[in-house]
Amino acid sequence: MRQRLAILGSTGSIGVQTLDIVRENPELFEARILTAGRRWELLAQQAREFDADAVVIADKNCYAPLRDALADTDTKVYAGEEAVAQVAAAGGTEVVVNALVGYAGLAPTVAALGAGKKLALANKESLVVGGEYVMRVAAEHRAPILPIDSEHSAIFQCLAGERSAPRRLIVTCSGGSLRDVPREALADVTPEQALRHPQWSMGAKITIDSSTLVNKGFEVIEARWLFDMPAERIDVVLHPQSIVHSMVEFEDGAVKAQLGSADMRIPISHALFYPARAERPGERFDILGHPQLTFAAVDRAKYPALDIAYDCLRRGGTAACTMNGANEVAVAAFLGGRCRWTDIVRTIEAALQRAAFAPHPAPDDYAAADAEARLLAREFLKC
Ligand code: NAD
Ligand code: MG
Repeated sequence: MRQRLAILGSTGSIGVQTLDIVRENPELFEARILTAGRRWELLAQQAREFDADAVVIADKNCYAPLRDALADTDTKVYAGEEAVAQVAAAGGTEVVVNALVGYAGLAPTVAALGAGKKLALANKESLVVGGEYVMRVAAEHRAPILPIDSEHSAIFQCLAGERSAPRRLIVTCSGGSLRDVPREALADVTPEQALRHPQWSMGAKITIDSSTLVNKGFEVIEARWLFDMPAERIDVVLHPQSIVHSMVEFEDGAVKAQLGSADMRIPISHALFYPARAERPGERFDILGHPQLTFAAVDRAKYPALDIAYDCLRRGGTAACTMNGANEVAVAAFLGGRCRWTDIVRTIEAALQRAAFAPHPAPDDYAAADAEARLLAREFLKC
C-alpha cells in the first residue's frame, strides 16, 4: 500500500525536495495534505499536481485567493495555524513530514505524534523548544520520529543495528557562510553575505542560524532529545567540506560516520523509506572528488551561540524555548535590516537573562515562554 503523506511547509526548501521524492516514487507515496505559510500560488500548483485532498494556508489573508485558485478541484482549502495542527492529526495519512520553520512547528509535531503517526522531522525547533515533552508524547503513542536534519539522519544511520549505547555523538558543522570572516568584521556583515552558504541551499532562517552557529547549538539540543544523550557526550567539530554528516563513537573506540554529498534529498528519502533504502539512480558519490576531509575545533569566542545552547540544555525547563523565541525575532530583524548580525546573539543573551524560567514546564508554559522571549527580544532591539 502506498504511504499517504501530509507535508507541512510544502512550499519551503525541505517541502519542495520532499515532493521531489514523492514525484520520483509515485507507486510508493501520495502527497495527500499540503500546507504553506503564505505562498498560496505555489501551494495551489502543488495541490493540482499531486491531486491533494486538502491544503492549509497558515496566513488567513491568503485564504480567498487560494480557495479561488482551487475552486474547480476537489481539494479542500483551510486557513490558519490551528488548521495546520489539525490536519497533522487528521485521518487519511500515515506519515507527517514536518518541514515548517520555527516555533510554529511545535503544535503540529505534538498533534502528529499524539495521533500515533510516523513523523519525518525537519523542524528541529520542535525539539529545541519542547524536546522533553515531544519525546514523551512520541513514547506514549508509540509514534516513531525519523530525523531529516542531515546530522541527525547520519547519527540515526550510524546507530542502526547497534545494541550497545554509544559513548559520544560527534556532530559536524560546516561553519556557515561567515566562517572565513574575521571576528572583528562580523558587526558589518550584510544579510546578502550571511545568506550565501558555501555548501547547502536552504531557507533563509536556517541559513542565518548556520552563520551564527545557533543552528549547530539547536542541533546539539535536537540530538540530546532524539538520541537520549546527555549534553556532555555530544561534541561539535568543524568540517568545512560537509561530506561527513556526523559520527558516533562507541565504547570499544570504534567510530562510525555517514558520508555523502550535501543533498537534503538523501536524508529526506532515508526518513521516508526507512527501514528500506530508496533507489536513486542518479546518486553516485565520488569519494575521489573529495580527497581532503578536514576537522577542526569550533572557535567558541567567535560563535558564543554554541555555549549558550549547551547552557540552555544544562538549565533545562523553558531555557531553550526562550533562546529560540528570541532568535526568531532577531533573525527576522537582521534580515529586515533592523539590526546587526552581532545583535542576534546579544538578543538571545538579553532574553535569557530577563525571562521567567519554568523548570518543569506544562505544555502551556512553552507558549508563554515563547511569547515572553519575543517581547523581550523586541524590547532589546527596539523594533
Ligand atoms: P523554508 O523557510 O524554506 O520553508 C518553511 C515552510 O514553512 C514554507 O512552506 C513556509 O510557507 C512554511 N511556514 C513558514 N512559517 C509558517 C507558519 N508560521 N505557519 C505555517 N507554515 C509556515 O524553511 P526550510 O529551509 O525548508 O526549513 C524547514 C525546517 O527544516 C526548519 O526547521 C529547518 O531548520 C529544517 N532544516 C532545513 C534544512 C534545509 O536544507 N532547508 C536542512 C536541515 C534542517
Ligand atoms: Mg543540519
